[in-house]
Amino acid sequence: MHGLMMDSPLTITSIMRHAERCHPDTPVVSVTLDSPLHRTTYGEVFRRARRLANALTRVGIRLGDRIGTLAWNDHRHLELYYGVSCMGAVLHTVNPRLFPEQVAYIVNHAHDRMMFVDPLIFPLVEKLRSHLPSLERIIVLTDDAHLPKTSLDGVVSYESFIAGEPDDFDWPDLDERSASSLCYTSGTTGHPKGVLFNHRSTVLHTYACGFKDTMNLGRQDTMLAVVPMFHANAWGLPYTCPMLGTRVVFPGPKMGDGPTLTALIQSEQVTHAGGVPTIWQVLLNHAREAGVVFESLQTVLVGGSACPLSIMEEFRERHGAHVIHAWGMTEMSPLGTINTFPAGFDSWPKERQDAQRVKQGRPVFGVEMKIVDDDGRELPWDGKSAGILKVRGPWVCSDYFKLDEKSSAHEEPGWFATGDVANISPDGTMQITDRAKDVIKSGGEWISSIDLENAATGHPKVLQAAVIGIKHPKWDERPLLIVVPRPGETPSREEVLGYLEGKVAKWWLPDDMVIVDKIPLTATGKISKLELRKQFEGYRLPGA
Ligand code: ADP
Repeated sequence: MHGLMMDSPLTITSIMRHAERCHPDTPVVSVTLDSPLHRTTYGEVFRRARRLANALTRVGIRLGDRIGTLAWNDHRHLELYYGVSCMGAVLHTVNPRLFPEQVAYIVNHAHDRMMFVDPLIFPLVEKLRSHLPSLERIIVLTDDAHLPKTSLDGVVSYESFIAGEPDDFDWPDLDERSASSLCYTSGTTGHPKGVLFNHRSTVLHTYACGFKDTMNLGRQDTMLAVVPMFHANAWGLPYTCPMLGTRVVFPGPKMGDGPTLTALIQSEQVTHAGGVPTIWQVLLNHAREAGVVFESLQTVLVGGSACPLSIMEEFRERHGAHVIHAWGMTEMSPLGTINTFPAGFDSWPKERQDAQRVKQGRPVFGVEMKIVDDDGRELPWDGKSAGILKVRGPWVCSDYFKLDEKSSAHEEPGWFATGDVANISPDGTMQITDRAKDVIKSGGEWISSIDLENAATGHPKVLQAAVIGIKHPKWDERPLLIVVPRPGETPSREEVLGYLEGKVAKWWLPDDMVIVDKIPLTATGKISKLELRKQFEGYRLPGA
């Protein structure tokens, strides 16, 4: 027997309608090239999204067409998030930090009909134009006064593109399973792969982001969204903040800039912020050097790669801000697990608290997970057994977009293999020990590079640490610790390796340590193990 409840489609349009009615005056603050501190409201953003939808219709964009963006986080990108998806087209957010060949591959693979590009990224499109045959139009996200000079034909500013369009638009009634947006994962090997989100998955993911124990967000809060809108939908913040009525602050092209982020937190009285650990390291360094304390900041969301304890401690001790460590991936929209703590956590001994803090957390309702061995046999949730992490749920991708071959990640029907190696405690708390491709195999056993990195960044002279496997004649691979020291410090090999003793299993201790000025990062701001392995190819460990 069916229940007697309405079958309202779960569409992004419903988030927009709700926000427009209930939070029209909630501020949206952005840094853009044409305006260092632009202020608008959700009401105005959605009014302009209707003008955008009219302009897109005028130039012949239809249901299912892909519309590319190469843009930073700002109010115009937010208008595209809603205008494009809610008219039934597909918003394709492209990461401008990828190699130019990858950008061209992605735009062609997606067959984008239009590209909306930030003026600072426009030179990339100009250079690639002859390799982007699917693009019929290029719109620069600025006004006429700031439109870059170009020899390309037909390039217009966003403001002139939507100017003169009516404020009304009859949003179509969309099937909730219709595609809403598209994002390619960077892919360290092979071509990037497209993850195609739909309206339903986006709305369900947005609900899950709104739980208190997820992002701890509400109407009284102000979110600084540093995580890029071109990467995994900025962790869903462009949907969650309007749904909840949370004020949002977008840093535009300044997302890696300590002074700008500091100024925004202070002037906008930011309560919440979301971004990858490398960004928070930059911000914390700047605040320390400038003698700034973030009084308003309450919650910092960290994900994308493992968050070192030192970052959590500095936020807590210096700024009184609580760090929420989260794990996810583009293929999961991206939210998977969140590390919030149980009742009584505050009275735990510090060591037990610290061990809990660095974990990736429990699955948010909607995500199911399991760990399996190499033969696909499920492993117990005992906090020790480590295996390949698999997930399923309504916002986990069921396949990649237009992939020629079958994806190995979807080999087991109904499950997605994340490519991460993890253990799970009896209470469901998951801990990533490595990416499968970064695992260090010594004498047939796995060594967790993430555990070693976490332990090494606890050393007071160490700013950043990365661990990779180096070929070894006897053990197959042994760990090498690569360290960026804190400014003015030169930690010795003996003092850092000595510090690790007792913190990790004895046979995990790295065989050597090297000091570098900088650790290479991927296009999504993570430590590039691939690049490091290339850099240290042929490195001879002592005694090897
Ligand atoms: P890309 O690989 O292009 O950067 P994703 O953001 O989808 O794209 O990467 C997801 C991966 O990032 C996960 O599979 C995992 O390896 C890593 N990751 C994300 N969050 C965490 C975290 N909190 N701790 C450790 N690893 C993480």
